[in-house]
Amino acid sequence: MSNLSPILADDRDERSFEDPLDLMDEIDRLKVEKDAVILAHFYVDGEIQDIADYTGDSLKLARDATQVGQSTIVFAGVHFMAESAKIMNRQKRVLIPDLLAGCSLAESCPPDRLAAFQKELRDEERDFVTVAYINTSAAVKSLCDWIVTSGNARELIEERVPEDKEILFVPDQHLGRYLMEVTGREMILWPGACMVHEMFSLQDLLRAKRNHPGSLVVAHPECPQNILEVSDFVGGTEKMRQFCMSLDKPATILVATESEMIHPLKRSAPQHAYIPVPGIMTETGETCACNRCPHMARNTLQKVRDCLRDGQPEITWQSYFDKAKDVLERSLLENTRQAAKMNGD
Ligand code: SF4
Repeated sequence: MSNLSPILADDRDERSFEDPLDLMDEIDRLKVEKDAVILAHFYVDGEIQDIADYTGDSLKLARDATQVGQSTIVFAGVHFMAESAKIMNRQKRVLIPDLLAGCSLAESCPPDRLAAFQKELRDEERDFVTVAYINTSAAVKSLCDWIVTSGNARELIEERVPEDKEILFVPDQHLGRYLMEVTGREMILWPGACMVHEMFSLQDLLRAKRNHPGSLVVAHPECPQNILEVSDFVGGTEKMRQFCMSLDKPATILVATESEMIHPLKRSAPQHAYIPVPGIMTETGETCACNRCPHMARNTLQKVRDCLRDGQPEITWQSYFDKAKDVLERSLLENTRQAAKMNGD
């Protein structure tokens, strides 16, 4: 995504303070006035999740985006997510609070490099399909056969990728390695990684486990293998939420993913104590906050209000969205339609 610049630190809006409650009232009023709906990822600030009409992981939000009746969607998340919402809703206006909210993982796989690598494989007469994690630009999606999220990747690969095909998995090497393990399929892995999940330190996690005897570790599959190996549950954010809700007995849960995820976990399963990994370990005095995604943190209530009020920044249709749309719909919506049919609705 050429229009995105790297962000090295929490790059929050530095404009003058506005009362969050006033902003929330204004956003509610503008939503009605502009016929708009707000979708918010689990990794954006809790206060934005609180005013959103839909919250969830990438898979749920991509599906939610196809169900909304309003003419405008405000996507509080990162660029590739808003792009996916636009691709699936060409007739709707899709706004993003900050156009610079990118994703280090998506940016690790530029479309020209992927196309060149696919050509090399074809020249070697390799019979492969390209499976992309949804954290990719639309231009990359248009070069792929399947799109997966951490919520449906295993199921899609097991059910829909023929066993006689090789799999080129892009761009997350850690998720790819995890999928190789759970599906038993060999894959060619693109060497990308998420800047947030890659930062988790095994040492910090083990220290936190020691400091909280009996605690459970839940981890996102974007984490490196050494973190997953000591985790009690591995899954995308929605599955993580469901796992915590399924535990009746109060527990201490160490959360190895973006730290704002603790907000929906507390709302859904308040019986537990949640500790971000590595988080701010008061016991040890460590103050590492590298589990906050600086791209997600670009979303603020002010920017949500501004984009609703001004009708921009807007994601506009690009020529390669047509091809990306075919792949996204085949990958993310067909199961929903089958499930709806089975449920009779
Ligand atoms: S947490 Fe990682 S994968 Fe998710 S948006 Fe941020 S950089 Fe991208």
